[in-house]
Amino acid sequence: MNFEIILATNNQHKLKEVREILSPHKIVVYGLKDLNIKLPPVEENGSTYAENALIKAKAVQQFTTMPIISDDSGLEIAALNNEPGLHSARYAESLGGHDNAIKEILKRLEDKKDRSARFVCDIVLLNVEKEPRLFEGIAPGTIANQKMGEGGFGYDPIFISKETGECFALMQNNKNAVSHRAKALNKLLTYLKINGFVPL
Ligand code: IMP
Repeated sequence: MNFEIILATNNQHKLKEVREILSPHKIVVYGLKDLNIKLPPVEENGSTYAENALIKAKAVQQFTTMPIISDDSGLEIAALNNEPGLHSARYAESLGGHDNAIKEILKRLEDKKDRSARFVCDIVLLNVEKEPRLFEGIAPGTIANQKMGEGGFGYDPIFISKETGECFALMQNNKNAVSHRAKALNKLLTYLKINGFVPL
């Protein structure tokens, strides 16, 4: 039997990445649109990724008793005091989109020697146990000198993975081997296997 789960997102890129990792393990991942859930705007006003992931998951909880996963993630750039971090989506929105945000980041880093950065992803699981469960993944890397490729989403075109030396936007077939989201999801997968929700 399949284990069915809802991903609390309308971001089709996130949904694709999550499906690629969980589907081979008899887990069917639905997006909000698939279940016709029209979530009113959720204010992500937590002070951590985990808090924001929980806020999003709880907003979906009023619509369903199915297991829910919610992902909150961001890009932390060392030379910019770990900005945009928790505000990665809002930073892009405030500048008119990710293209502009990328240009702005490259400009702000022009005179900086340290280009180290990391993606962080916190995933919360709800409606499985009484208490929510949290899984975290971190992908270390650096910010490229210029935009590289068009693949992926968000800040993918300027993030170079420390583990592969490649830009996320150019590794759409293997981003899931090293990404922050994949690392968090693999921890979730281990939890689901150990607890007998999905086959080992
Ligand atoms: P969230 O959907 O509120 O968690 O916002 C996450 C934001 O962080 C996205 O809108 C992107 O700006 C950025 N982000 C998170 N994960 C990734 C990724 O895998 N690639 C590129 N950008 C990402």
